[in-house]
Amino acid sequence: MWGWGKHPVVEAELLSAQARADVVAAVAAGPLTPRGLGRSYGDSSLGDRVLDLTRLDSFVAFDEATGAVTVEAGVSLSEVLRVLLPRGWFLPVTPGTRYVTVGGAIASDIHGKNHHKDGTFTDHVSSFELLVASGEVLTVSRTSHPDLFAATCGGMGLTGVVLEATFTMRPVGSGDVVETVVKAPDLDAALEAFAARADATYSVAWVDLLASGARLGRSLVMTGEHADDGPLTTDGSEPRATVPLDMPSVLLNPLSVRAFNHLYYARVRQPQLTHRVGHQPFFYPLDTVAEWNRLYGRRGFLQYQLAIPFGDGPALVREILRVVAAAGLASPLAVLKVFGPGNSHLLSFPVEGYTLALDLQATPRAFEVADRLDRLVLAAGGRLYLAKDARMSEETFRASYPRIEEFEAVRRRYGADGVFVSTQSRRLGLA
Ligand SMILES: Cc1cc2nc3c(=O)[nH]c(=O)nc-3n(C[C@H](O)[C@H](O)[C@H](O)COP(=O)(O)OP(=O)(O)OC[C@H]3O[C@@H](n4cnc5c(N)ncnc54)[C@H](O)[C@@H]3O)c2cc1C
Repeated sequence: MWGWGKHPVVEAELLSAQARADVVAAVAAGPLTPRGLGRSYGDSSLGDRVLDLTRLDSFVAFDEATGAVTVEAGVSLSEVLRVLLPRGWFLPVTPGTRYVTVGGAIASDIHGKNHHKDGTFTDHVSSFELLVASGEVLTVSRTSHPDLFAATCGGMGLTGVVLEATFTMRPVGSGDVVETVVKAPDLDAALEAFAARADATYSVAWVDLLASGARLGRSLVMTGEHADDGPLTTDGSEPRATVPLDMPSVLLNPLSVRAFNHLYYARVRQPQLTHRVGHQPFFYPLDTVAEWNRLYGRRGFLQYQLAIPFGDGPALVREILRVVAAAGLASPLAVLKVFGPGNSHLLSFPVEGYTLALDLQATPRAFEVADRLDRLVLAAGGRLYLAKDARMSEETFRASYPRIEEFEAVRRRYGADGVFVSTQSRRLGLA
């Protein structure tokens, strides 16, 4: 069994919950790892006994006046959109794929292109039902159990199993997005474009990792707003293509990636382009190809996502781009974004500043380079995203997440140690 990055691969007993009673029985029977759609890249949804929660997929309630929706934890964001977009409601926060469950979104405290404006997914969650180690189901909110709320949002499934959650949708007049694409010839221009468009609801930059020298950080900076009117439909509901086999890794050599990146950048002819696009290509361009993770071959890949404060941010981003370019590690996808202030959840990832996400084919060289990047990130007061991580050391984790001891105390208080575990939690020294 593996996560989205296909590294690591572990032997696991896979259980499937068809109803709440199955979750209760599975928790009573021994240490367990909750799992949604397995879109975390590393080992956070892996363990010896893994419980698939995707069959807990019912809608429970929807308040048309406020946009508050209650669903079971295995409902995917794709399904939420399919049901609620036609009624004029969009997700408050969405990641770069719609194939994640609400339980996984809470456990990773996911962020989207609107973090600088709207925070993380759990900032829009009012309460959830959590099955804790004793077998009790608690209704957890910021006021009823502030400790458990703060530890579970971003707590990577290590406090209990989320069974059901209530969150508030965003009213929209259309499923379309008015997108502006700015061509930034280097990193300074990309950062200036972010600053100049700080009011945009959504913003993200695609960085050409193979551009070096004066073109280092060459990017397309994309911003977007929901259109006011237009079709309220989910366009292209299923992937249109698939990658049938693990591809030979030669496809991802620096030359093929360089050619791809060049074409991607060249596709936008004018310095700035504003046009109307569906929400699918704007938010989920990768979802059009099923199993694109096979492009990295059998070895799989690492996604390295860091967050660093604004302070040394530009210099550090530049240095990281240089290190990756010099190492010749092919990575067609590099995403840069500005984060707004973090929240008070104990292991939540975002730090006000920049976030950069790189895909590295899982070669021994990539692990060496990632260790080097860790040192740079730590020195800048940054951290790595647990939902993407497959390799960080316990020391790096402890040095970069300052509230680990509070998190551990909450886990002890609710008896979660040794009951809710994962391959990642063991690697990171969380009991
Ligand atoms: C193409 C792609 C783009 C992405 N873009 C973004 C992005 O822009 N922003 C972002 O933040 N993330 C992004 N991600 C990561 C993804 O949003 C998270 O990893 C998310 O947690 C995956 O949800 P899942 O249902 O697949 O959970 P899984 O991967 O199955 O599990 C993730 C974690 O959640 C826990 N968990 C799952 N269900 C429950 C439950 N019911 N109760 C308790 N714990 C549970 C697991 O134990 C595990 O620790 C992206 C992933 C992909 C593949």
